[in-house]
Amino acid sequence: MTRILIAGFKHESNTFSAVPTDLDAYRARALYYGDAIAKQMRGTKTEPAAFLDFCAAEGWQAVTPIYGDASPGGAVTEITFNHFANTICDAAIDQGPFDAVMLSLHGAMACEHTEDGEGELLARLRAAIGPEVPVAITLDLHANVTDRMAELANIVVAYRTYPHVDQVEIATQAAGLIKRALTGEIKPTSHVRRGAMLEGVDSGRTTAPGPMTEALHSADLLLEKPGVLATSVCAGFAKADTHDTGPSAIVVGNGSDARFGVMAEKLMEQVWESRHRRTVETVPIDAAINRAKTAVGIGGPLVLADFADNPGGGGYGDATNLLRAMIEADLRDAAFANICDPAAAQICWENGLGSIVHLDLGGKIDPRYGAPIAVRGTVTALTKGQFTLKGPMAAGVHIDMGPTAVLKVGGIEVVVASERFQAHDIMYFQHARIDVTQKKVIVVKSSQHFRAAFQPLASDIIVVDGGGGLTSGNYKALTYTKVRRPIFPLDLN
Ligand SMILES: [Zn+2]
Repeated sequence: MTRILIAGFKHESNTFSAVPTDLDAYRARALYYGDAIAKQMRGTKTEPAAFLDFCAAEGWQAVTPIYGDASPGGAVTEITFNHFANTICDAAIDQGPFDAVMLSLHGAMACEHTEDGEGELLARLRAAIGPEVPVAITLDLHANVTDRMAELANIVVAYRTYPHVDQVEIATQAAGLIKRALTGEIKPTSHVRRGAMLEGVDSGRTTAPGPMTEALHSADLLLEKPGVLATSVCAGFAKADTHDTGPSAIVVGNGSDARFGVMAEKLMEQVWESRHRRTVETVPIDAAINRAKTAVGIGGPLVLADFADNPGGGGYGDATNLLRAMIEADLRDAAFANICDPAAAQICWENGLGSIVHLDLGGKIDPRYGAPIAVRGTVTALTKGQFTLKGPMAAGVHIDMGPTAVLKVGGIEVVVASERFQAHDIMYFQHARIDVTQKKVIVVKSSQHFRAAFQPLASDIIVVDGGGGLTSGNYKALTYTKVRRPIFPLDLN
């Protein structure tokens, strides 16, 4: 019987964050072992679900030692990395031999002890399974793909959508290539190239025609060339200060042939040429607030995205600049998700539903991104912060934000959560009985993923970058010490 080792170890590491990513950060989002992985993940729009479905359809035996995903944050601790790597490698040895390995990774993991988490994991895995067993890895479109990752994994494929709604398709594609490798039809190898770029392809946005959709089109055309099995374009994750951070092109070919590297190189030339083009312009806070003041709610709410403090990119989720401006402008019929502030949520819980509380909201991790706001508000909802995402992105995935409250400050209902989550799904509001369709203004701490769920119901969208936050687009405000130089946009134009 064909036996497949399936595991997941995902993290997008914002090395500028002061909050280290430990096992508790995984427990707060997703950390499952053994049979619990199938129980938790099957039926969801995710890679492990797709891997397991593929194995079931083929009659293959899947062994699943561990799957974990943590909200983007600071570097992964060495203890956490070792826990995942040891669990995966021990299973590879103790429960082996395996015919193939499928890993669900992010691709932008930096750790305390190594800046290439995925490369290190693959090196340890290869030491356990040897050089011959085919290994497929799936990556986020925001992966920082290193040469070591491409050398150690036979098959490297990344999402092709941002918002990421194609997790199942990409994992199924990777599994399909494993199947062909197992029959001996192909011998896949992966080839990656980067440019002198920290960021590019419009951060990978695929919601409007632009640099990313054009690069993906060129990548598709490569599939017609002999021996080309899969192609990917990654936008990279610029908030990880590592040597290889930045956009990349990946070509998976049949056999090792220098042509594949040349194809990836050519694709990167196109990515370089498009570096100044954007499909979305961010606006400063005061301009966004002026628009919000005149929003009437006809045709759906005006949706503001708090780009600079996106927990989906490692933002603390408690930056207050935008919320403070909303309160000062006395916006009405508005809702905001989420401020991550466990202490504030606890005060709301202790005082109870309907109570009026005075508290300092947000701004506690790094007040440079907006000091705590002294608010007086009414507790209009208390929830356990548990719900299932409606999607389309990651539909079916269970979320647990811990004790959560809705605090109504003036005309603004603020969702106050105990854990850090990017509000890219309407359930962040709806689980607390906030009907987003009835609001004039909706604010989400998200930079792009929210579009999958909110674009269909929004009358308009404004992406706000007030500069104050760990995910602001102002790269020159950060001190990079490890990335290769010179690089766009820090040194090159
Ligand atoms: Zn991503």
